[in-house]
Amino acid sequence: MIGDYDVANIRREFPILERQVNGFPLVYLDSAASAQKPRIVIETQREYLAHFHSNIHRGAHSLAIQATEAFEGAREIIKEHFNANINAEIIFTSGATDSINIVAGSWGRANLTASSTVLLTHLEHHSNIVPWQILASEIGFKIDVVELLSDGSLDIQDYKTKLTTSPSLVCFSHVSNTLGTINDAKLLTSLAHEAGAIVLVDGAQAAPHMNVDLSDINCDFYAASGHKMYGPTGIGFLYGKLAILESMPPLRGGGEMISSVSFEEPTTFNVPPYKFEAGTPHISGAIAFGAAIKWMESIGVENIAAHEQALTKYAHEKLLQIEGLKIYGTAEHKASVVSFLVEGIHPSDLGILLDQLGVAVRTGHHCTEPLMNWFKIPGTVRASFAAYSTFEDIDALVAALERAIKMLK
Ligand code: PLP
Repeated sequence: MIGDYDVANIRREFPILERQVNGFPLVYLDSAASAQKPRIVIETQREYLAHFHSNIHRGAHSLAIQATEAFEGAREIIKEHFNANINAEIIFTSGATDSINIVAGSWGRANLTASSTVLLTHLEHHSNIVPWQILASEIGFKIDVVELLSDGSLDIQDYKTKLTTSPSLVCFSHVSNTLGTINDAKLLTSLAHEAGAIVLVDGAQAAPHMNVDLSDINCDFYAASGHKMYGPTGIGFLYGKLAILESMPPLRGGGEMISSVSFEEPTTFNVPPYKFEAGTPHISGAIAFGAAIKWMESIGVENIAAHEQALTKYAHEKLLQIEGLKIYGTAEHKASVVSFLVEGIHPSDLGILLDQLGVAVRTGHHCTEPLMNWFKIPGTVRASFAAYSTFEDIDALVAALERAIKMLK
């Protein structure tokens, strides 16, 4: 136990961490792909499904009112946690990917023209590249990409230079899922705003690891996923500044997003956030996402961050003692991800052997193929940490790696 951070106690809240994999106690080092769930999240979802499941907003009966209150309560939790101005700025989505696609399909289609530029970075996840490529093939705008420095941090000089071309939209990840690089979202946003751009921040990897203050960052859009924050899959949110959301056309038509529908008169649309929430949402997911955020707050996001920082530092030190191992992503500010390669060994081979030894890591390009191309590598092995990760997990990774390397060399 370091200071007041009682990781053993935290681990007891995660039933999955008690299981064995391939005859070994599970060492789960793939939290960047998806974090495990504490009992309160599992119970909250079960409680809703068992006791007050009903469709929301439309019903006058007691169950519908209870379900609506819990669903809207989760929106309030997100708004408070991320310090948005009002609940209407929080749109429930199926996750960060969906959130970015809404910005592309609605704001992008309405505001970008053949002469526009969208500025991305070499750090982006495919979720923050492909929606723009699809839209560019339709509209014909240019996609420009900010360079990196060799440690995997953003080349700020190149960013400033590319901003002089007056992009309409700047999109960057707050934290890189492959390298862990933490971008200074507030600084990047203010520079982009000075250049007249709208700013979309992909916060999928930041939200689980740090307090994110949207009013302070001042970005126009922010995307995140519930499942990376100890919540269920299939739920996330898009934050958008209210005035921008109000100006945007709806993307998907259906129930809930309308004000009135007629065959005689033009159909009119609901206000944000409902304008962007067509159809029955993932109600149990949203409510349990709220519980996950409350759980993070009960531990203290800053305490989780400090624990993960200590783990990341320890992992760097231990892994670098392995001969031929190179870490990709050594930026001064980085979150709890360590990507590496061992000379002469393909990352997938290492991943398979580590799994046989009970260690779950991710291997491959991590949905960042352009970043892998930038480093001229096929992929990496990625170990990632969360609130429940331990120094013993890292020792187990190192021991398993040493065994796997011996078998492969
Ligand atoms: N952006 C980043 C940086 C990610 O790491 C991920 C998922 O790994 C996503 C976006 C997409 O998130 P989701 O699959 O939850 O939509």
